Amino acid sequence: MDIHDVTVVGSGTMGNGIAHVFAQYGFAVTLVDIKQEFIDRAIKTITANLDRQVKKGAITDELKLQTLSRIKTSVSLEQAVSNSSIVIEAATEDKNIKSQIFKTLDLNAPQQTILSSNTSSISITEIAAVTKRPEKVIGMHFMNPVPLMKLVEIIRGLATSQETLQTVIALTQKLEKTPVEVNDYPGFISNRVLMPMINEAVYCVMEGVATPEAIDTVMKLGMNHPMGPLTLADFIGLDVCLSIMNVLFDGFGDPKYRPCPLLKKMVAAGRLGRKTGKGFFEYKE
Ligand code: NAD
Repeated sequence: MDIHDVTVVGSGTMGNGIAHVFAQYGFAVTLVDIKQEFIDRAIKTITANLDRQVKKGAITDELKLQTLSRIKTSVSLEQAVSNSSIVIEAATEDKNIKSQIFKTLDLNAPQQTILSSNTSSISITEIAAVTKRPEKVIGMHFMNPVPLMKLVEIIRGLATSQETLQTVIALTQKLEKTPVEVNDYPGFISNRVLMPMINEAVYCVMEGVATPEAIDTVMKLGMNHPMGPLTLADFIGLDVCLSIMNVLFDGFGDPKYRPCPLLKKMVAAGRLGRKTGKGFFEYKE
């Protein structure tokens, strides 16, 4: 299947990065959000990120202008998908919001349109079940920041067809990213492996095994991780980490995924990491 028109739903952190990359690689993009001010902010972010790429010599000024000219915007999902060959949904991580979006997409997008989600933790099989085209529903899990990160985890739901899978793999390669096929289980691969490591690092803090600085240094210098697990947790947001641990715990019913009490306590106290200025470390504006 040939993909030309791409609709990106949600213009936040991930949505603006996804729109940026598709437009940079020549696709006609429609970026959708619920309010014009969110879209305006996204276009500003994309422009600033393109400027940075030009400054670094990664792209030409001409490509920057072409990229921006390929992005249309809309606050009407119904209209935005009428010509779309694929939709990438990157709206707020909430089951009800995503169910509503996929119902609208199913009603308004052409029959052959592939509907994908960038969800980090919601089951693709469940999302697919609210549509009448579950064979055309798939996960495209991009990583943050999207223009820089090479991986796209491709999540195959129970009903996803081979044709949908092959189309999305080929599309990912056109963006010069590496697709990795994963079956639909809680946390996929990325979060199932990453979050228990972060959770264990939080246990080490709680039990007084070592300081947050010491734990991160061990993992950086000893394991060659570019960033320690607690710095990474602060970057992701401790609320997001807790919510993903809960998805693993509920999904598998295995006590090895129980969220660390200190993680729960920090979230309850509003110490969410970088975005609140304080998590395991402190951040000044
Ligand atoms: P975000 O909060 O930055 O952006 C979400 C956007 O969705 C907001 O602009 C919001 O207005 C919009 N939105 C909400 N309801 C909508 C609707 N009905 N129609 C259109 N737009 C709507 O969130 P984010 O961090 O970009 O995350 C988006 C998705 O990507 C989530 O599913 C998340 O799990 C996933 N994800 C996030 C990261 C990350 O590091 N932030 C990484 C991988 C995947």
